[in-house]
This record gives sequence, structure tokens and C-alpha cells, in this order.
Amino acid sequence: MSDRQTQTDVILIGAGVMSATLGTILKELAPDWKITVFEKLASAGEESSNEWNNAGTGHAALCELNYTAEKSDGSIDISKAVNINEQFQVSRQFWSYLVNHNRISHPQEFIMPLPHMSMVQGEKDVAFLKKRYEALTGNPLFQGMEYSDDPAKLAEWIPLIMNGRTSSEPIAATKIDSGTDVNFGALTRMLFEHLKKQNVSINYKHSVDNMKRTGDGSWELKVRNLDSGSVERHSAKFVFIGGGGGSLHLLQKSGIPEGKGIGGFPVSGLFMACTNPSVVEQHHAKVYGKAKVGAPPMSVPHLDTRFIDNKKSLLFGPFAGFSPKFLKTGSMFDLIGSVKPGNVLTMLAAGAKNIPLTKYLIEQVMLSKEKRMEELREFIPNARSEDWDLVVAGQRVQVIKDTEAGGKGTLQFGTEVVSAADGSIAALLGASPGASTAVSVMLEVLKKCFPQQMGAWEEKIKEMIPSYGVSLAKNPKLNEEIQSATAQALRLEKVLQPA
Ligand SMILES: Cc1cc2nc3c(=O)[nH]c(=O)nc-3n(C[C@H](O)[C@H](O)[C@H](O)COP(=O)(O)OP(=O)(O)OC[C@H]3O[C@@H](n4cnc5c(N)ncnc54)[C@H](O)[C@@H]3O)c2cc1C
Repeated sequence: MSDRQTQTDVILIGAGVMSATLGTILKELAPDWKITVFEKLASAGEESSNEWNNAGTGHAALCELNYTAEKSDGSIDISKAVNINEQFQVSRQFWSYLVNHNRISHPQEFIMPLPHMSMVQGEKDVAFLKKRYEALTGNPLFQGMEYSDDPAKLAEWIPLIMNGRTSSEPIAATKIDSGTDVNFGALTRMLFEHLKKQNVSINYKHSVDNMKRTGDGSWELKVRNLDSGSVERHSAKFVFIGGGGGSLHLLQKSGIPEGKGIGGFPVSGLFMACTNPSVVEQHHAKVYGKAKVGAPPMSVPHLDTRFIDNKKSLLFGPFAGFSPKFLKTGSMFDLIGSVKPGNVLTMLAAGAKNIPLTKYLIEQVMLSKEKRMEELREFIPNARSEDWDLVVAGQRVQVIKDTEAGGKGTLQFGTEVVSAADGSIAALLGASPGASTAVSVMLEVLKKCFPQQMGAWEEKIKEMIPSYGVSLAKNPKLNEEIQSATAQALRLEKVLQPA
């Protein structure tokens, strides 16, 4: 029975960091627009954006080795790292604007300064790290990065990792103090609190089950009220599908041709969390290693200090695994249900191509705690099993599509904005680099869906994001000003001063 119908300008599906970011930007650009949010869970930021479901790294390519590939001539390609760093600077500027204009407060509740480090062992990887360091330090975005292969220096930087290390293999690390730990769950909740105050209608326990285009080009959504069981109809001129892992199903339901031929491959995540406060206290950094051969890029092991619920924690992982669910709270039928006539050939090709990856992920799921401890001991030689518990993290649904470079059924590791030609609907697929780049990705949604308004909005966007449209890597002076202003607004400034 349908008992409620509304009409609005914008509907955001999902209350994760992406919808939160898009809603917040839109409220600045078009304050009069009416926005409605539907979220099937009981509150905001409960799926991938929740602090326990992701690694909380402010991805700026300061420590992630997979963003700097070694070319066939042995040189290092830093273009991806520069691009990701630029995107993170966009996020920092937007968050600073929100703090400076009292849209949100207490930035230390969602972002904390934390050194970002890369650490490798073995001659080949040490040589790679040195080359990477040399390639990056010439770029203004990576200023302040240090390199060391001196065990005494490393013991100062990462005592927990160096203590009890008996291996004679060469070891090296880079360290940069301008890294961050971001509590994306807290940020999402803050943004939804702000949206609520701006009269955005936020409907929790409301699941979007279907959608169709109406005669006037708007979208009508069939929404189930999970408390009462009633079915509601809500229409909007623009719909953003920010359902995280749930976005692919919703995109397929929209029936737009741009969504055809796209599939999804879920990769689950597990962390080990340290329960011994004296061990937690001995570490203060995010330390990223190198992915094992055959492992997907999102399972690069890292040992991270985290700041959650005003408490310092220590997490290791993520261990990737396979589960057919598209959301942590999803269904075992998500994967099979996503195979449609429009993507079946792509999915079959992907299945055939990715047998080794699937095998790897299934083996990972089967790992015993002791086996996981062995991996942890590559970071902390003295780690004791009794000090560590397993924590189940979120699901990441990687996009599968046909590409020129990879052919049919190629697995993608980035994010993808899929929108209708008339800009009336857009979906965000994929989860990497993820929440850190939410602001840039949501600006891309606006560019694709509101091309006529972008001209009028540009001045306001530049007020919020002074580097909008400008490369910070190519403008060292502006970069310095922005780094310093955002560090001050977000209370990160202490770490930017030399010790
Ligand atoms: C293990 C792991 C580690 C990660 N580490 C990092 C990291 O270190 N740094 C980083 O920047 N990013 C990281 N990410 C990625 C990041 O978490 C995601 O990119 C980001 O949280 C996605 O936000 P979202 O809003 O798109 O999705 P979500 O936060 O998942 O929100 C989507 C919401 O939509 C709701 N929904 C879905 N379907 C429906 C429906 N039909 N009706 C109503 N509501 C619906 C869901 O319930 C959910 O609340 C990580 C992810 C994982 C899984």
C-alpha cells in the first residue's frame, strides 16, 4: 500500500560519505533546492564509511606504493600519485571551508595528523623505494618526505616494527609527517547533522527498491518504509545513487543505457585490532608495505594508528577475502543477482580472467588466526596472538567492464561516475581511493549532471576550494598557502613544523 508521496528537487540514495558530501556541496551552491535522503539502515555512515569498516587513511599517495608504478625503463611513474594527492587537497580545502564557516566544528573529531610511512624489505624493494622517494621529493606536494635505510633511524621512527627484528635483509622506509588519519564515519555523521539543520529531509530505515523515469523526465522511486512495511513513491528531478556496494543494483534498476555492460566484483576486508594498550602506545604512524604477488591492490598490508571514539587504536590489515555480498549488511545473492542480460558476457569474461584472484581471495578467507599472525609478524616480529582480535570491515565492489586496454570483463580498481546523458541521474561505483576523494568525485558528478549551472556556481566553488581548476603540483606557492591554511583550519598544523 502506498501511503506517502513527495516531489523534490534532489534525492540522494544512501547516507554514506558520498551522499553527505554531495548534499553539503549542493546546499552551498543551490541553498533553495529541496533535498531528500533515503537510507535503509537506522543511521548515517554505517556501511563502508563507518570508521571500523575502512582503514581511515587520508589517501594522498604519501605512503601507498601501488600509486607509483615502476615503468619498463626502471623509472617511477608518479602521475597517479600526484593526481590522488591533488584530489585529497580538494577534500582538505572543502572540509576547511566547512569548519571556517561553522557548518561543522571540532575537526579533530574526524581528522588527525599522523605520519604516513612506506616500508619495504629486500634489496629489490629497497631500491624501488629509494627511486620512488627521489621521484616524489622534487614535487611540491610531497615536500618533507624523508628516506632512511639506517636501522637505528628506523628504530626511532617505528620502534614496534624494529624491535626483535633478527632478519639481515635490507630494510628501508620513507616518512612524511603531513599524513592524516580520517574518521570518515564521524565526518559523515557531522555532515548529516549539518544537512538536517538545513532542512534536508533524511529518512532512515527507508529502502529504495525500484525506480522509473516519469513523463516529464523526472524519476519516481519506489521506497519501502522498513518500520511500517508501507510502500512510498517519491519523485525528483535529479537522483544520486550513493548506495556504496548497493549502487550497482540500483543503477541496473534505473535502466539507463550507460549502466549496461557494467558488473561488480565484491572484495571483503578484515583487520586485526590490538587489544593491548601498551602495544598500541608504541606505534604512531600509518605504515604501508607492498602487496604480495597475486594480491589485489586493496590488500596492501599496513599497520595503522587510528583515532576512533577519542581513543588511540592499532589496526593491521586489511586481509582481503571473498563474499558474494555487495554491502556488509547485504545478501548472499547480491553477486548472482547483479548478473543481467546486459552484462552477462562481461561477467563471464571477468570470471574466466580472474580465477587466480578469486582463488587467492577464497584462500584468504580460509586463513587461520595463526596464519594471519604470521603476516602481522612481518611488521611486528614480537606480536603475540593474545593481543590481537579480528574485526570484520566493509565490502568493496570493484567495477567490471569492457575496456580497450584490458578487453572484455576487465576488473577496475578505481571509482566510476556513471550518469544518464541528460544528467538526471548519476551513480558512484567502485571504492578506491574512496572516501578521501569524495569531494573531487562529487564535483565530477556536478560537472556531468549540471553543466548549465557550473558557470554560475564556479565563483562559489572557488571560494570553497581555492585551488579548483588549478594544479597545485605546478603552483608551489599556492600549494604552500593551501597546505598551511588547511592545516590551520583542520588543526593539523603542529606536525607541519620541523621537530
Ligand atoms: C576495507 C576497506 C578499507 C577502506 N579504506 C579506505 C581508506 O583508508 N581511505 C579511504 O578514503 N577510503 C577507504 N575505503 C573506501 C571508503 O570506505 C568508501 O569509498 C566510502 O566509504 C564509500 O562511501 P559511500 O557513501 O559511497 O558508501 P557507503 O558508506 O557504503 O554508504 C552507502 C549507503 O547506502 C545505503 N544503501 C544501499 N542501498 C540502498 C538502498 N537500496 N536504499 C537505501 N539505502 C541504501 C547503505 O545502507 C549505506 O549506508 C575503504 C573501504 C573498505 C571496505
